[in-house]
Amino acid sequence: MIIAANLKTNFTRKETASYIEEVGKYAQKSAQKVMVFPAMTSLDNYLTPLTIGSQNAYPTLNGAFTGEIGLEQLQEFEIKTILIGHSERRHILGESQAFIAQKFEYFKDQGFEIVYCVGEPKEVREAGSEATLEYIAKQYEGIDTTYDKLIIAYEPVWAIGTGLTPTLKDIETIHAELKKKSTAPLLYGGSVKITNAKDFLALDNVDGVLVGSAALYAEHFCTMIEYADELENENK
Ligand code: PEP
Repeated sequence: MIIAANLKTNFTRKETASYIEEVGKYAQKSAQKVMVFPAMTSLDNYLTPLTIGSQNAYPTLNGAFTGEIGLEQLQEFEIKTILIGHSERRHILGESQAFIAQKFEYFKDQGFEIVYCVGEPKEVREAGSEATLEYIAKQYEGIDTTYDKLIIAYEPVWAIGTGLTPTLKDIETIHAELKKKSTAPLLYGGSVKITNAKDFLALDNVDGVLVGSAALYAEHFCTMIEYADELENENK
């Protein structure tokens, strides 16, 4: 399974280095693919079994894009994994589907592993499952769902950082629908905690989790890795 941590705008370089060391030591003993997305200023050439990815980048080698980083800055640290379409970039930073698709295409051409996020806001969810699936379908526009280095993360916007989560049944239903669109590994994200992670990981069509707030505690994140190992040993 895939256990991924989105550290967002948290931790200094020093704190990130010790986090990566602690989680790396644990992940070494695990069969899971463990990914960490640190803040931009904490990207580095870490000697680690973890996959280190970028939370974002501009679709360019370099150039005049104030405040952004491009391929050149990622290549410096041999970063070959990127998160695209996260709800905070869609809804807080205002990235359009067209721009997200452009970014996807650029990093696909560069052979990056892409964790691509989709998910509906609260009002769409409240409008029902048909509206939810229609909304998510639009987030697949311009995205090559057959890309072999694609990982998809279903993250309902209303569940991110709120402590709210869909029911297990709802996750199973949506994941089954999303699996019809792409056979790429499909992660669940949105208020994953040590108290619910094992239940999510045990579901059909859930190939891992993308974790924000709870992943800031290395010990909690390692517990989630342990859950995935346990489930695999129990033949999930
Ligand atoms: C996220 O931002 O990808 C996320 C899942 O955050 P949280 O776990 O805090 O809901």
